[in-house]
Amino acid sequence: MRNIANSKLAFLAIVAVVAVAMVAVYMKGHLDGSVGKILKLTPEAQAAKAKISPVKALEDRDVYYPGTEALARNEMRVVALGTGMPSARPKQAAACWLVELGNGDKFLFDIGSGCHERIAAQKIPYDFLNKIFIGHLHVDHMGDLPTFWLGGTVMNRLTPLRIWGPSGSTPEYGTKHALDLMEKMYAWDIATRSGVIDARGMKLEVSEFPFNGINEVIYNDNGVVVRSIPAIHGLDGAVSFILEWKGLKLAYSSDTIPNKWWVEHTKGADISIHECFLPPTLLVTKQGFAPIEALVVGTQGHTSPEQFGKVMAMTKPRLAVGYHFYNDFDTEPEVRTRVRKTYDGPLALALDYMVFNVTKDDIRVRMSAIDEAVWPSPALKKKNPPDFTKAIPISDFTKSGAMGLPEIVGPIYDEINKKYGTNYKPAFKE
Ligand SMILES: [Zn+2]
Ligand SMILES: [Zn+2]
Repeated sequence: MRNIANSKLAFLAIVAVVAVAMVAVYMKGHLDGSVGKILKLTPEAQAAKAKISPVKALEDRDVYYPGTEALARNEMRVVALGTGMPSARPKQAAACWLVELGNGDKFLFDIGSGCHERIAAQKIPYDFLNKIFIGHLHVDHMGDLPTFWLGGTVMNRLTPLRIWGPSGSTPEYGTKHALDLMEKMYAWDIATRSGVIDARGMKLEVSEFPFNGINEVIYNDNGVVVRSIPAIHGLDGAVSFILEWKGLKLAYSSDTIPNKWWVEHTKGADISIHECFLPPTLLVTKQGFAPIEALVVGTQGHTSPEQFGKVMAMTKPRLAVGYHFYNDFDTEPEVRTRVRKTYDGPLALALDYMVFNVTKDDIRVRMSAIDEAVWPSPALKKKNPPDFTKAIPISDFTKSGAMGLPEIVGPIYDEINKKYGTNYKPAFKE
């Protein structure tokens, strides 16, 4: 036993000595600056450094900081706010694209699951974000509409939300019906805010247009024209959009397989954003699809990378943008290789927060730097004060359970009343 104890002690002693030695070696590097950033400069290096002018901000940071760049009068900025799949993930929300124009107009194309926080990251007052075009009623193209609509109302939007979307083969498959039901679904949410907040921004103005219109104008204002063309995806009631302004043309597929309307009407677009789905190979290996499922979904319901490339080769946009796939280090190379089998023109495979500045002379592609601690912008219009006569009362039963905590809440009211010269009293007294 003693021998074993002794050898154990000896072993521990050796471990301790080795550990101390390792720490000493590590610390030496850090204390004398030979590891890390605090290297001492040689006299020659110090002299060279002195010749460099004082540190100044980089003029071209090659990154986009939302809210810091004005657009030129003839410039279009497109921001990818959802480029992934129906199931949003931290890296990619589902379909959403922001288009901002030099005349101040802003448009959202699709508003899929998970994109609202990315919209918020643009630091744009919600009143400016009141025009949404929905390509079809899949959840990955409209899933964040409720949160953007109602959350936006709380976040100072005082302007009604205008939404354009296609009809379906019957009224119950159309946008109008879906959004009527959305309003009904959120009756409780809406009622809680009644008489409490300024609800002007809660109003929905829905424009349903025929899904089978071919290059029909569905919006025409302030020099901006938006047209729709039929898309082939799911059921009747899917469309793609074309926006034209000041000689610039943007095409946005939402979801579709290759079709003649897209090829005919988006030719020569300045920026052509089209779905580019994962190839069936990756749908099987990464997403667990059965082979037949992968083939049908990946080529007959969506556009595979090779099909995407073919469409772009036929339409020759100034920039082709592929989206609607999980864009990772182990998927992008295969997607790109497959696109390149059929298309050799300018290409971007989109990620969330990719930004495109489009003018007649140039198309610049960058990524954004996002402030995660973003707050809503102040209201652009004067807010109406609460009108509690319009508030929907709660029952005596629920009231009977309330703890007013006057000794706690009273001072909070006093603090605000004193600061703002008001005389408000809490609803729950005792
Ligand atoms: Zn879809
Ligand atoms: Zn989709």
